[in-house]
Amino acid sequence: MRYVSTRGQAPVLNFEQAMLSGLARDGGLYLPETIPTLSDLDQLDGLSYEEVAFRVVRPFTGDSFTDEELRGAIDRAYARISHDARAPLVQLAPGHHLLELFHGPTLAFKDFAMQLIAQLFQIALTRSGQRITIVGATSGDTGSAAIEAFRGIDNVDVFIMYPHGRVSEVQRRQMTTPPAANVHALAVTGHFDDCQARLKDLFNDHAFRDHVGLAGVNSINWARVVAQIVYYFTACASLGMRSTDFCVPTGNFGDIFAGSIARQMGLPIRRLIVATNQNDILHRALSQGEYRVGTVEPSISPSMDIQVSSNFERALYLAYGGDAGAVAQLMDELKAGGFTISQGALQALREQYRSDRVSEEETLETIRDMRERTGEVMCPHTAVGVAVAQRHLEPGVPMVTLATAHPAKFPDAVERAIGIRPGLPPHLAELFDLPERVTRVENDVEALKSLILDRRTQ
Ligand SMILES: *Cc1c(COP(=O)(O)O)cnc(C)c1O
Repeated sequence: MRYVSTRGQAPVLNFEQAMLSGLARDGGLYLPETIPTLSDLDQLDGLSYEEVAFRVVRPFTGDSFTDEELRGAIDRAYARISHDARAPLVQLAPGHHLLELFHGPTLAFKDFAMQLIAQLFQIALTRSGQRITIVGATSGDTGSAAIEAFRGIDNVDVFIMYPHGRVSEVQRRQMTTPPAANVHALAVTGHFDDCQARLKDLFNDHAFRDHVGLAGVNSINWARVVAQIVYYFTACASLGMRSTDFCVPTGNFGDIFAGSIARQMGLPIRRLIVATNQNDILHRALSQGEYRVGTVEPSISPSMDIQVSSNFERALYLAYGGDAGAVAQLMDELKAGGFTISQGALQALREQYRSDRVSEEETLETIRDMRERTGEVMCPHTAVGVAVAQRHLEPGVPMVTLATAHPAKFPDAVERAIGIRPGLPPHLAELFDLPERVTRVENDVEALKSLILDRRTQ
């Protein structure tokens, strides 16, 4: 399987190389040249999550890993998810299901991809003897998942930038309390979009990139997208492979884009519904055809407080029929504030995506309402998804909303809604007693570079 950049000017890579590099050298994102299709879909029901993961991931990894290596990585990764089903499907109302993706070690769906790619990185780096430096930007959940997955992994240093003061206390502590010497939490002055922009600066400095062996594990990393395809398959298998709608609380467009790949692989997904909070660039883009960057408004669903939605570039590439030149031009226009999506591409996007936005009031109301009607206590991101899904439910078509985090990860918002502070699961009981380790850093690429050079353990 060969991987090409959405901007067409970077070397063609295999799976392992695309995974280890993250962002393409031309600033683009890697995508497989062709999307494989999966047969025997009706035989997936009843298989373990691990077995489905093997069948879904296998066609993408090509000859980068042997079957045995891949199975081993999958088994070790998902042994850390504390539910036998890994991603259980729970019914909320007639025709409406919740896909619980928060039973991993850091209580958000990011664990599904991060745990797997940490195992794959370990295999690849042990084989090559190469050392790398992972740098990531996070609005909270990616960073905690990355630090948890990569702590103690050989040949890797991990630096995670998060916006100072803008992540929840649980998120921050999950990043600052692991004592492993190879993980480093960096509190950056600014928003998530600043962190993401500095990350792109680091990757675009090719001399620095090569010197430290820079690798990225943000949701733009293709290997993460691949891991996220799996739970669309287990969900559809549980529902008998009927035509199904999925509603996805969306920020960087990684999770929902995995759904679009699942659809191209043959799953009977009818619509993918983008659910956003007031930071609604994606809803505006899909409804009006204008992708224009606004200012980030902090919300009670902070993991979706994003204006530049990186993985959307992959959806644009597909909607423009693989025209890398057109994508490169749009991304140039984005630097000046935004662009207009062509009529043809907009139509292609609207064939599979719907979108909607939810206010803070509605989010809180949904948490309250769901608790009363179902007993489920949900995190604010999940509530955004549920609120949108309820508006788009159609008789006869099952709806699956992705529950992206555990309510205990966002206790303030949940308490505001229902007056009860959700408790942490037992494996995180000590989180508030452990000492924190964090470095404050300015929103400045030179400051970051010298910090990284200074702190690497290699
Ligand atoms: C990351 C995250 C999202 C957004 O996912 P994307 O793949 O960035 O669209 C939504 N909810 C939670 C809890 C998250 O951690």
